[in-house]
Amino acid sequence: MKVFKFGGASVSSAEAVRNSVNILRMHTGNKVLVISAMGKTTNALEIVARKYFNQDLEMWTAFQEVKEYHQGVITELWEESIELPEVEKLFGLISNRIKGEPSLNFDYEYDQIVSFGELISTQIISLYFNKIGLKNRWIDARNCLKTDDQYREADINWELSARLAKRIFTFETDDLYITQGFIGGTLTNQTTTLGREGSDYTAAILANLLDAEEVSIWKNVPGIMNADPDYFAGTQKLDELSYKEAIELSYSGAKVIHPKTIKPLQNKNIPLFVKSFLEPEKEGTIIHALEHSLELVPVIIVKNHMALISLTPNDFSFISINSVSDVFSLFANYRLKVGLIQQSAIDLSLAFDEPEQGIESLINQLHVKFEVKYNTGLDMVTIRYYTPEAVAQIADGRTIYIEQKSRRTARMLLK
Ligand code: ASP
Ligand code: MG
Repeated sequence: MKVFKFGGASVSSAEAVRNSVNILRMHTGNKVLVISAMGKTTNALEIVARKYFNQDLEMWTAFQEVKEYHQGVITELWEESIELPEVEKLFGLISNRIKGEPSLNFDYEYDQIVSFGELISTQIISLYFNKIGLKNRWIDARNCLKTDDQYREADINWELSARLAKRIFTFETDDLYITQGFIGGTLTNQTTTLGREGSDYTAAILANLLDAEEVSIWKNVPGIMNADPDYFAGTQKLDELSYKEAIELSYSGAKVIHPKTIKPLQNKNIPLFVKSFLEPEKEGTIIHALEHSLELVPVIIVKNHMALISLTPNDFSFISINSVSDVFSLFANYRLKVGLIQQSAIDLSLAFDEPEQGIESLINQLHVKFEVKYNTGLDMVTIRYYTPEAVAQIADGRTIYIEQKSRRTARMLLK
């Protein structure tokens, strides 16, 4: 059994959906298809969720745009203007929800609305595939991937999900299942999401639970590149990576795969292919167990929207292990993702993803014990297998806030 994951770009239009049919027909055998929301639907639904939470009536315009976009794709796929009752029902559920009053928990409301992107895309694609004779069964991932109630970043209940997955994906009467990436459900059937770009992670979870032979993620790039081709000239595709290397790259901010994707695959030794849906016959990148270490070209990963906080104890004492531990638990409470740490005798600096809501209250809490300096809008650039030339090229003309080098990795925080 294989798991295929189609991301938003690979199902963003009728043409893209038809292209995914060709890819499926190239690969015989049992498959689970994990699909994202179409195109930029998640961003559009985020706007609906935010406006709804703020009781801004423009939410209806935003909702209408999401609806019309999908209706356009349906019309093109069916080559006539029709209404699909299953999809209409989902739009009805969104509109009923936003007619009501929001609770006080934004993350909860977010998940209840944003999750519709995947429910709608999979419903359209499943119906279309069945119509053209590509027989498949649609599965509601919320009945299978059970999570806790940490909305927007839910954690999987592995044991329960394994039992449910084996019961649902039996392959007894079907050889193709279609399900949603990114979403799960709590024990009490509330919808949760696994974090932005979480569909890759869903593919890895299902592969792990069902002992898949392999996972393929179909993207609009030829594979994993050594740098983002939109920003760097002369980029190269990396033909293979070890699981460890892939974790390093995605954790540093490489956008091709979600950082949580690798571990469930590594645990079961399942290879992951990252391939182009535009050139599906080409090799792409394979991530698998590797005995030998690879000699790679410099791999450059840029992470935008980083914040830097630098702390000095108010009493000019040394930074002790206790104060480091206090700071870390505070960051954990705010669910901040720290990407870089630097400590000297009396300073502690932490760089992290700029949170959506302001960091004022965090800073106020830190002020109790520390003098606090902070900057936002920084880039964190990681260079694996760095060379002096690569470092110089990145730093050229920019202000460096922090620079760190280990044997293999150079990391800089830049403005
Ligand atoms: N649709 C979700 C997002 O855009 C999940 C995904 O595409 O992986 O974040
Ligand atoms: Mg995506």
